[in-house]
Amino acid sequence: MTLSLPKGQDKPQRRAFIAGALGVCASALWPPRLSAQNSKTRLILLGTGGGPRPRAAPSSPAQVIIANGVPYVVDCGDGVSRQLVAAGVSLPALRHIFITHQHSDHNADYGNLILLSWAIGLRTPVDTWGPPPLAGMTRLFFEMNAFDINTRIADEGRVPLVPLVRVHELTAGGVVLQDDNVKVTAALVHHPPIQHAFAYRFDAPDRSIVISGDTAVSKNLIALAQGADVLVHEALWVPAVDRIVAKIPNATTLKQHIIDSHTAAEDCGRVAAAAGVKTLVLSHLVPPDDPAITDQTWIDAAKKHFSGRIVVGKDLMEI
Ligand SMILES: [Zn+2]
Ligand SMILES: [Zn+2]
Repeated sequence: MTLSLPKGQDKPQRRAFIAGALGVCASALWPPRLSAQNSKTRLILLGTGGGPRPRAAPSSPAQVIIANGVPYVVDCGDGVSRQLVAAGVSLPALRHIFITHQHSDHNADYGNLILLSWAIGLRTPVDTWGPPPLAGMTRLFFEMNAFDINTRIADEGRVPLVPLVRVHELTAGGVVLQDDNVKVTAALVHHPPIQHAFAYRFDAPDRSIVISGDTAVSKNLIALAQGADVLVHEALWVPAVDRIVAKIPNATTLKQHIIDSHTAAEDCGRVAAAAGVKTLVLSHLVPPDDPAITDQTWIDAAKKHFSGRIVVGKDLMEI
């Protein structure tokens, strides 16, 4: 059978326009709409290793920001559901998912996170944001899993899953969400050949957190991250790229591609300094698990140009 998205979720351009219009309105309201904050805004790194290769550790890229007790998941690399459980986040409380870009190290478990959260009790809407073809991917994922979904509805009395999920495709930067807990702003970053790759900024009353997604040095990211408390930035150890591409047929081309679409650890420090952030968190580490590259290696590279606090990201680290 065919499962379709709820009415009105099949026109990405119209949605982007509406999101943009809402962004302007929401921005004008900021911050008086915020309800009283009753807990510190938390950032937990769920997966800190870059690239799609499944590993024992570190897990693939994902993080969660918890504002007023509400989780905002950014990226859904392999194992994101398990990592959320390990971080103590209740999956039926899933409410918001942001995908930075459609590379499999960032989206492989996007659908699984929704499906598995629903299978253990999610009954409330989930809003998802990300670049095209997020709407099509969501629809096809539900179609692929229609047997399980329909079985659980009939057998376990679960609420229908498909109408719970509201997809918001993004093709431009700007404010994408403002609710009682946070304002979320997206910016297009530079991650060729991907046209639509985003960084996200979360402004809560007590702190601001920016997630770079994958990007080469990006002026848009520097602008987005101005004055933020925390910048989680992807980091590449360039001398290791030769080893990474060694077994791949088009090694020379791929090496240049990796360097051109990511940010060297040293340049992460430059970006953090230019944005004036307080804390730089290096994550999406590439290579992710080379014992020859120590935390000090990463820190020494980044601190050449940045005098603030530098943290080397670890799975389940809270910042
Ligand atoms: Zn990546
Ligand atoms: Zn990527």
